Amino acid sequence: MLSSQHPDTDHDTDLYLDSNATTPVLPLAQAAAQQVMMANFGNPSSTHSTGLRARAVLDASRAMAEQVLGADKGRVFFTSGATEGIQTAVLSALSDLATQRAAGQGAASLLLYGATEHKAVPEALKHWNRVLHLNCEIVPIPVDKTGAHDLAFIASHAARAALVCTMAVNNETGVISDLAGIAAALGDSSALWLVDSVQALGKQPLNLAQTRIDYAPFSGHKLYAPKGIGMLYVRPGAPFTPLMVGGGQETGQRGGTENLPGIAALGAVLQALHEGNPVFQSHDVLEQYRQRLADSLRQAFPGVVFNAGFEHSVSTTLNFAVPGLSSKEMLDLFDASGIRVSSGSACNSNKVVRSFVLDAMQLDTWQVTSAVRMSFGPATSALEIDDACQRIIKAGAAIRNACLLFGGESEEHTAQTPANGLIRLMFDTGCSWIYCDADSRQCIIIDPLPELLERIVRWVACRNLPVLAVLATDSEHAAGRLALQQRLGEKLVQHNTDLLGWPQATQQLALPGGNLAPALALGSGWLIRLANPATDDSQASYLVATSASSSQMHAQTPTKTSTQTPPAHLIPDSIRFAFVGDHLAEHKAQLARCIGKRTLLLSAHDQWQEFATTLDEATPASSNSNAAPDVNLPARQIRHFLDQHPNAWIIDVRETYEHGMGQRLPGLPDLQLHNAPLSRLPQFLPDWLENEQQELLFICRSGARSALAVACLRRLGHQRAWHLVGGLALQ
Ligand code: PLP
Repeated sequence: MLSSQHPDTDHDTDLYLDSNATTPVLPLAQAAAQQVMMANFGNPSSTHSTGLRARAVLDASRAMAEQVLGADKGRVFFTSGATEGIQTAVLSALSDLATQRAAGQGAASLLLYGATEHKAVPEALKHWNRVLHLNCEIVPIPVDKTGAHDLAFIASHAARAALVCTMAVNNETGVISDLAGIAAALGDSSALWLVDSVQALGKQPLNLAQTRIDYAPFSGHKLYAPKGIGMLYVRPGAPFTPLMVGGGQETGQRGGTENLPGIAALGAVLQALHEGNPVFQSHDVLEQYRQRLADSLRQAFPGVVFNAGFEHSVSTTLNFAVPGLSSKEMLDLFDASGIRVSSGSACNSNKVVRSFVLDAMQLDTWQVTSAVRMSFGPATSALEIDDACQRIIKAGAAIRNACLLFGGESEEHTAQTPANGLIRLMFDTGCSWIYCDADSRQCIIIDPLPELLERIVRWVACRNLPVLAVLATDSEHAAGRLALQQRLGEKLVQHNTDLLGWPQATQQLALPGGNLAPALALGSGWLIRLANPATDDSQASYLVATSASSSQMHAQTPTKTSTQTPPAHLIPDSIRFAFVGDHLAEHKAQLARCIGKRTLLLSAHDQWQEFATTLDEATPASSNSNAAPDVNLPARQIRHFLDQHPNAWIIDVRETYEHGMGQRLPGLPDLQLHNAPLSRLPQFLPDWLENEQQELLFICRSGARSALAVACLRRLGHQRAWHLVGGLALQ
């Protein structure tokens, strides 16, 4: 009943292309940390030999850092990371302003920061402005479409600014700031200048002492050192206030015993960088990597757009968007291919959280909601790039076969797998439905949302299916319906319809309960219109009745719809699905007279990811916790679970294109995984609900989608459903 397979295994290794988030720790850095933990474990403040050896490590790392940063007489001290460095810099600058004000000087009242700055910067500005009662105005510096700071804005505000914060390289887009231009715009103002240099280290030449930069924070874990170590450069003469005081470490600039393993590891990375260790690729090689990845992306995803011009960005970051595919879909697809990238816009409970960086660049909405960041580091190897390119091509083929890609050559693509049953497409909390009848090779579309129009048109063309009807459940969905009807042209079987899309020429069918309703033959089943007499034809529900006893359509010779004779009456349970739009409450009494207990009610909105309800089911999903302990199966218990339930169905609820990319359950390579994508969950529900004794174990990538599936099953009354907590990612 479900498509099943043993996914192939060629994606067992992770390909990590998210270096702007963090990097692995290089072996040479691990060795340095290990050496300090095992041998040179002393406290650098101790005066005995063990302590002196530890201090030598600390001093050597600092000397190396000063060299790499071009710090000259500037101070470099170690922090826990860039966030701490940013706090220290902001506190130093703002304390200085407070001191000036206390002395009746310091007229500056502005704190400026680039609109695309890492959140740590504006948050630190707000925090210390509040804590120090400065009441400064905190103003973002606009950027243009290329991500470049508005230099005229800086120039016109610099005289009133106490502190100006402009990052060296953006973490989402890789855009390189024009630091020389900013320095010129600051002119001879007395504004202090903080340059978050986290993403520049190892990728851009740094000669800090040659600049007027006052503070430059860095983070070890962005360049192959462990997390928890960073450094801050402070220009000679720049105001300084320690964030933490204590035992006088770091000459009183930062209290607390030094993180020597982290410092040793960072020192080793900086030394390798300084000495030109071949583990780090040259600028030209990194540029070639970017070109190869970009070429593969163009080949795999025709129409791909790069959100930051290559001429303005570091070669190690590619931020791109594929028309018609959301960030979340791309992330899931790449993850299934074993490529770890990051979504430019996060998706939270089906709500897209837009990237403020791309918004600040005023990119088109689709570029923001589809953004993906692929980033590598200077130690990425050519083999990894080869592998990435191959996986990208394969991922493109998978998504094309799912009819989800449009533009370019994929316009001619025809799906290789036949469509059957119910599909739900979502935009925000709104749902559009496609129902395909494999026997008659026809489909119907209910409540198409304007935002999903392109996707639906593409899907219909790629599946090459005639559309029997495009229906709206109320007049609010009529505009989207009409727009789709116009786009479908010849593909739509009947154009002569009422406002909600119901074709004029239909038959009458006796419903359970005796009433007659207009109906269209749909393969061996029926599509029935249930008008609400109280609403003057501006609302309707649509019922799908199948003659088959399971949700899986039986293979039959296609029936000619016009000659089919309606049965005398239907039985309630043959009505599998009722598309009730947003008006279940008004239609409930009428529905109760004809549909069955198991008929699934499918609505036009699904804020709580319920997927489907039934007339009997009373618990609203919002109060239905899927965290109930007996639905959660921790990974360590999976073997025990399978021993206890050897016939359990293991159901992968990732989309078919993800499932097809292959991922086994480690240690259980022969386990048969069925695929029931979440977008088609209601299609499978009737079968599962009829098989109450069948154990169902849902899995997905992170455990989020499988949690939704199991919550739905439990809510609808199936008590033998579980899901794998943490998903395949934790395997
Ligand atoms: N600044 C930028 C540009 C970053 O990319 C990051 C990390 O994401 C930070 C600051 C914060 O760094 P850390 O994790 O070391 O506190």
